[in-house]
Amino acid sequence: MNRSILILYTGGTIGMKADPETGILSPFKFDQIEEEVPELKKFNVSLSTLTFSPPIDSSNVTPELWCRIAHVIKENYDSYDGFVVLHGTDTMSYSAAALSFMTQNLDKPIIFTGSQIPIGVLRTDGKENLIGAIEIAAARHNGRPAVPEVCIFFQDKLFRGNRTHKHSAEQFNAFRSDNYPPLAEAGIDIHYHHQFIRKRDTFMPPLQYFHRVGHPGRRH
Ligand code: ASP
Repeated sequence: MNRSILILYTGGTIGMKADPETGILSPFKFDQIEEEVPELKKFNVSLSTLTFSPPIDSSNVTPELWCRIAHVIKENYDSYDGFVVLHGTDTMSYSAAALSFMTQNLDKPIIFTGSQIPIGVLRTDGKENLIGAIEIAAARHNGRPAVPEVCIFFQDKLFRGNRTHKHSAEQFNAFRSDNYPPLAEAGIDIHYHHQFIRKRDTFMPPLQYFHRVGHPGRRH
């Protein structure tokens, strides 16, 4: 069966493109992502995109954005098999941690990623991060989503989001999880460490705290 993934572009370096004449970076239209990353057409996954307008540099992220992300996921939860959140790297760990507490007992993956070099620039790490995040969001194990957690995928490792921190603004392996092992590692194949991946509590309804997430802008 064809899986469906919703990609949310919230902002950050990954969605930037350099003007060929001036070299100035500006956000490209994320709904045209397949032009920037033609490899996405080879996926046996149906992809939808949703762009936050204006895109937000993650140093300006506030809890209001966390609510917007959670709200979009909540509204689309039944229509997709998984979610990829593209986010600036500077505060990605904070947003992933917040989302992990707002979406407890998830039974679908929410995979954050971003990049150190814009996707529209030669030598970008954004394409591999995006492709890996989509593959993980669509992956199944024993007929169920392989990683029903809020995670960060960066370079070649999948981490539990709320255990991460950004340790480098220069290296492609920008994130670390010092007190919990990686949930998966990408080499020739993506190797999942199922023993470390959270199991959904089947006695509790999925997303039990989602009802606390109000509409963006509303006080709650
Ligand atoms: N300043 C950017 C941000 O965090 C850097 C990045 O995307 O890596 O939004």
